[in-house]
Amino acid sequence: MNSNDNALAHLEAGERTKFYLSRAWRRVRAEVLRIDHYECQRCKERGMYTKAAEVHHINKLTERKDLALSIFDEEGKRNLTSLCKTCHLEIDAAQTEQLNEERWD
Ligand SMILES: [Zn+2]
Ligand SMILES: [Zn+2]
Repeated sequence: MNSNDNALAHLEAGERTKFYLSRAWRRVRAEVLRIDHYECQRCKERGMYTKAAEVHHINKLTERKDLALSIFDEEGKRNLTSLCKTCHLEIDAAQTEQLNEERWD
């Protein structure tokens, strides 16, 4: 098994923590931060400069495990993006709310 397979096996097993500690994830995470010049992309859209601290899955990891280690999706749009802690918390909270609403449909 290569390190990508290992990382994905952790995800399949529901071991998110192990996934985020995997070498494959750390490698792709570092690459995303480098591409984004370590800048929070959401703050950037708002004309602010904030140092990025985290890398976020735009396509929810629970729904698109196949994109877990992909910087781009199949349409060439970004799947992984650099965010500051504040933006990441806000975005993940919004996604969780959405998820809860979907569950009540
Ligand atoms: Zn931000
Ligand atoms: Zn996130």
